[in-house]
Amino acid sequence: MKRIALFPGSFDPFTKGHEDIVLRGTQLFDEIIIAIGYNSGKTQRYFPIDFMVGKIRNTFSDNPAVKVETYAELTAEYAKKNGAKYLLRGLRNTTDFEYENSIAQVNKYLNAELESVFLITSPKFASISSSIIREVHKYNGDVSGLLPYKLV
Ligand code: ADP
Repeated sequence: MKRIALFPGSFDPFTKGHEDIVLRGTQLFDEIIIAIGYNSGKTQRYFPIDFMVGKIRNTFSDNPAVKVETYAELTAEYAKKNGAKYLLRGLRNTTDFEYENSIAQVNKYLNAELESVFLITSPKFASISSSIIREVHKYNGDVSGLLPYKLV
């Protein structure tokens, strides 16, 4: 049986920190589905979802074990539909831990077969966050060193 992990997130934008989690995840799983979640019309994204799908697909174009999809339903349901028994997430600090702990509990409640697996951030990527990148980019700051692809 293929070990499939879902890596769900907003990825607005997908960063070098996310890339690191995916690459390390490929050592543990046969397939990783990077799944960009969106709520129809609810939260406004900074980077359009189709643009980000294209960038992430390009980033992993040499890696057939990595897929990129979008979804607009419960993560636990989406995982089940895709045969994913694992949810891959990254942890940078205690704030992430508090948040991830609650999500993992509710996902387990919704889909008892789903195991959440956490990788601790690599120190060099620990301070990278999508929200800071959005802020810097908004004011024309150079974020190219924080992303695994070129924005233009
Ligand atoms: P969400 O909106 O679901 O929190 P994000 O796109 O912000 O989605 O993050 C997806 C996952 O990646 C989360 O588990 C988050 O903790 C993790 N993550 C984000 N940045 C980093 C980083 N620099 N290093 C390790 N993990 C990270």
